[in-house]
Amino acid sequence: MGPVDLGKLRVHKIFELDSGVPMPVALPGVTAADLARMKRWHDDPAEFAATPEDSQMIFGVHSWLMEVDGLNILIDTCDGNHKNRSIADVHQLDTRYLDGFAAVGIAPEQIDLVLCTHLHFDHVGWNTRLDNGRWVPTFPNARYLFSRRDFEHFRDTNEESDHAAAFLDSIVPVMEAGLGEIVEADIAVHREIADGVWLEPAFGHSPGCCTIHARREGPEALFWGDVVHHPIQLVRPDLPFFFDMDIAAASATRRRVLERAADGDITCFPAHFRSTSAGQVRRDGDVYRYEFVPG
Ligand SMILES: [Zn+2]
Repeated sequence: MGPVDLGKLRVHKIFELDSGVPMPVALPGVTAADLARMKRWHDDPAEFAATPEDSQMIFGVHSWLMEVDGLNILIDTCDGNHKNRSIADVHQLDTRYLDGFAAVGIAPEQIDLVLCTHLHFDHVGWNTRLDNGRWVPTFPNARYLFSRRDFEHFRDTNEESDHAAAFLDSIVPVMEAGLGEIVEADIAVHREIADGVWLEPAFGHSPGCCTIHARREGPEALFWGDVVHHPIQLVRPDLPFFFDMDIAAASATRRRVLERAADGDITCFPAHFRSTSAGQVRRDGDVYRYEFVPG
């Protein structure tokens, strides 16, 4: 797909991989009626059967690369190569993710800013790459911003998880290289007159997750991170998603963000929708539907 242009913003998608989960595992409580309602505006026979029990939720994993005012800003950095993880789909990957940068003509050395919506393993992995047995920053000339609440949570946790492993191999080496900065979840990272790039708190899926917003002489771009994982959550924003750490807070955040997206001139950039991924939220009765930007 080509880039999405919004005023003076240009947004490219950098693809890493697709990964499937049985629908009843990922979203317990979703019904055949919910599925049928989503299929009116979004269908993919490879993913969706007549019932949730026979359906997959396939998640795309990709980064968003935004050009604004001569800056190259990378949002979320996927799983990364050669990392040890408990989930087979992302363990010891060897993908051609970095080729995506060559395809859009922006080298990793030209990235100015790396923003992670949150610090789960599938959003920080390419912060680092393996170089002679050591993890080094993949984007050596960038500032990397990490939200304080997530940073402190995953720094201080005693749990053995892929998120904790990712903190050690994808966050700590960036801090040690002097490229990391801990920020609050409500800061402006780039501001020109009235427009700019800024973070807003979107806590729930993780303790410190945020949405990332940008506007430059045009409509707003809204980078969702994992506030919404899959289009079927527009039909059922109330349902718990299996990776949400605080289910009630995640659901409240999802409803708030969807409502705002439906009411404004906003193009959304979800972290895990497939196809062109980007699109607009529209109201559909008492819930929502999604209009993907054309491919
Ligand atoms: Zn994610």
